[in-house]
Amino acid sequence: MCAKKSSNETGLLKSIITNKCPHCRKGNLFIDPNPYHLKSTMRMPDRCPVCGQQFELQTGFYFGTGYVSYALSVLFIIIFFIAWHLTLHLSLQDNSIFCCMGVSALMLIVLQPPMQRIARSIWIACFVRYDPNYHASTGSI
Ligand SMILES: [Zn+2]
Repeated sequence: MCAKKSSNETGLLKSIITNKCPHCRKGNLFIDPNPYHLKSTMRMPDRCPVCGQQFELQTGFYFGTGYVSYALSVLFIIIFFIAWHLTLHLSLQDNSIFCCMGVSALMLIVLQPPMQRIARSIWIACFVRYDPNYHASTGSI
């Protein structure tokens, strides 16, 4: 049996990429929508403004996002090297591999703020289940 999603329901992947609350998939996980405002990039409200879901489930809850962030970085580097090889061709005979390493490292630095946010989104989505009837649950305001 397959349950049909209503047209206004957000999928898991989209809610993670757009940093939405995993419980209702509507409220924002972060106060500032721009991840490149570095002073406030990781600031989160205590609770979801839509459903009231608590965002820090326990003290130090987000320490585990380091593992997710590491995995995302490795995945990014693998994809970047494959894309570079397919388009510009990597070789040990010239400096192309070092150029690719340098550009991928620079890209990782530039992409760190949104990648850290996505790591937090993935981490909290591992522990909080989606509830399409969140209005009726006890966490609602
Ligand atoms: Zn919510």
